[in-house]
Amino acid sequence: MNQVALITGASRGIGAAIAREMAHAGYRVAVNYFQSREKAMELVEELIGQGADAMAVQADVSDFDQARDMVDQVLKRWRHIDVLVNNAAIAQQKLFTDITPSEWRRMFAVNVDGAYNCLQAALPGMISRKSGAVVNISSMWGQVGASCEVHYSAAKAALIGLTKSLAKELGPSGIRVNCVAPGVILTEMNAALGEETLEALREETPLEALGRPGEVAKAVLFLASPDAGFITGQVLGVNGGLII
Ligand code: NAP
Repeated sequence: MNQVALITGASRGIGAAIAREMAHAGYRVAVNYFQSREKAMELVEELIGQGADAMAVQADVSDFDQARDMVDQVLKRWRHIDVLVNNAAIAQQKLFTDITPSEWRRMFAVNVDGAYNCLQAALPGMISRKSGAVVNISSMWGQVGASCEVHYSAAKAALIGLTKSLAKELGPSGIRVNCVAPGVILTEMNAALGEETLEALREETPLEALGRPGEVAKAVLFLASPDAGFITGQVLGVNGGLII
């Protein structure tokens, strides 16, 4: 396969699982990282060791110029980007009244502007080739709202609005835009929740389990693939039935 996938925030967690899944499916994968350089390098070595074509590319997605440089580096190496996965994000648990203006802005800068910045850089190539797929990683909290995570939930809801609008705008250009909304997935992002909270969430989940990064990755792979050729503008929940 000659297809290229750029996955943001792929140094660890769900992004790393997406990179693995897409590499195993034959995509060339660009592994974006921000601070976890070593982890990104290890992942790229692992994928290359398995016969895949992979590269690591550093960028803070909240920075317009860095996102553009990242896309340029990938285009320089492989000439096209077929799949963009906007996965990079930060989270924070705080009472709404305690969220500072800079925390509010940073949440949106990474989780929403990050997607805007990467799309602005990657879409012109897709539009001129009249093909491509975008998968935005939202959250079930973007669908139903989470107490003590208002800025995170609002940013993730914005990604759902972006997905639906962009799908309408880009459909005629042959580009599909979809969204995956994970439930509670076992990654470092949830480390702050603590054992008790995680157990309570597991009990509340109809499938009586917490999710694994690989389970989200399989949904992303599907939405990116030609198997999902007639699917656009959709939000696919990967949440064990926690919200239905
Ligand atoms: P994670 O383990 O905290 O990993 C976050 C990733 O995002 C890291 O690779 C990190 O890169 C990257 N990142 C953070 N800020 C960045 C920036 N400014 N520029 C570029 N990359 C940046 O998170 P996760 O649990 O895998 O979450 C992945 C996605 O799933 C996120 O969109 C998250 O909101 C969503 N999600 C997660 C859950 C869950 O339960 N885990 C549930 C719903 C939705 P570095 O380490 O290199 O800095």
